[in-house]
Amino acid sequence: MRYVSTRSAAPGKSFSDILLEGLSSDGGLYVPETYPSVDAETLERWRTLLAEDGYAALAFEVLRLFIDDIADADLRGIVQRAYEPGKFIDPAVVPVTRLSDGLWLAHLSNGPSAAFKDMAMQLLGELFAFELQRRDQTITILGATSGDTGSAAEYALGGKPGVKVFMLSPLGRMTPFQQAQMFSIEDPAIINIAVDGVFDDCQDIVKELNADAEFKARHRLGAVNSINWARLMAQVVYYFAAWLQVSDGGPVSFAVPSGNFGNIAAGHVAREMGLPIDRLILATNENNVLEEFFRTGRYRVRGSAETLATSSPSMDISKASNFERFVFDLHGRAPQRVAELFGKRLPDEGEFDLGATAEFDGLADRFGFVAGTSTHADRLAEIRHVFEADGIVIDPHTADAVHVARRSGVDGPIVVLETALPVKFSETIVEAIGVVPPVPDRFRGIEDLPRHVVEVAGNAEAVRKVIESH
Ligand SMILES: *Cc1c(COP(=O)(O)O)cnc(C)c1O
Repeated sequence: MRYVSTRSAAPGKSFSDILLEGLSSDGGLYVPETYPSVDAETLERWRTLLAEDGYAALAFEVLRLFIDDIADADLRGIVQRAYEPGKFIDPAVVPVTRLSDGLWLAHLSNGPSAAFKDMAMQLLGELFAFELQRRDQTITILGATSGDTGSAAEYALGGKPGVKVFMLSPLGRMTPFQQAQMFSIEDPAIINIAVDGVFDDCQDIVKELNADAEFKARHRLGAVNSINWARLMAQVVYYFAAWLQVSDGGPVSFAVPSGNFGNIAAGHVAREMGLPIDRLILATNENNVLEEFFRTGRYRVRGSAETLATSSPSMDISKASNFERFVFDLHGRAPQRVAELFGKRLPDEGEFDLGATAEFDGLADRFGFVAGTSTHADRLAEIRHVFEADGIVIDPHTADAVHVARRSGVDGPIVVLETALPVKFSETIVEAIGVVPPVPDRFRGIEDLPRHVVEVAGNAEAVRKVIESH
């Protein structure tokens, strides 16, 4: 399997090369040259495999379709370590639950950081460790987080030989639980940096330091952001796992709380591979960049002043880093069209209107997308409703998808992807149902542990000094 850029017809690269490279040098994103296809017979075989041997065994089968430069025995080890049942609250890794009104929940947030980002980050951590060792290299991960990515990356990369992590977060802006998760980690190779500013300032600092070629090379800077193909690939697996548990062979729709378009892009890939997915129901919060696109054809990136701080904060985005991958497929995988649309900008900076094009016209039928938005009041109402009807507490992001799924008019089974445990967003849960969400055993008391964090001014120089001094 070779990987190509969404923006140029340059020859394909191997999986291991694009794993460490992240973004292509032409500014595009890497995608597989073709999507592997999976037939009904294979799905039936996988049904038995998942039931008898568990999630890691299924993950191996799916991932080896995308990776041909890691030996089977090595890849099996990587996948088994990433999805070892003991790391997840439920040994099924991605269990499903049926609500009394017929909606299904697929629980993606049972991992070490209690958000769905663990599903990809756990695999990425193992893949990085394997590849760095094979090449006898080290890497310094420089990242920015508004909440969930940081802790998922730190739990995945901590203790991995050759990996050092500097994680920027906006000072005082994560929830107390999210801060505790990151700052309580005791590992000399993990350095938390709280930046006096907002999330966009953190991201700008990461970009500025990466633009300094000498600094970047000297420290071997790398990234684990959501544009890395390996993260998307890891997420494809749970669409298969959920489908196998819910369907007896017929189509299933998925409702996905969306921000950067990473989670639902994996659903798109699974659908292109032949998994019987009827609709991909995209849910946004008040920051509806993506809903606007699927409704009108207009993709309009917004500034930070136009990005609202909501009660589903992990979806507070003004641009969607993974969206370019879908635009590539929408245009028949023609890189020159994508390059025209995005120009020389980064994948998350394009702005265009496809409303009057033939591609947009046939989009819903060809690719199955439908979209909707949810507000603070909607989210509170859904948290309350699910709690009263089923005694289950869902987090605010999941509630957005439940809301949009219920109003989508889509027939047949719908699986809502649960993306976080409610404990991460306690305040909103208390506002909705007056009940403090349960704290899983593994997180009990973390808010009282010593905090490991360096506070710096909101500029690249301050961060550069911290990196130089380690
Ligand atoms: C990151 C995140 C999302 C958004 O996922 P994307 O892949 O960016 O679309 C939704 N919910 C939670 C809890 C998250 O952490």
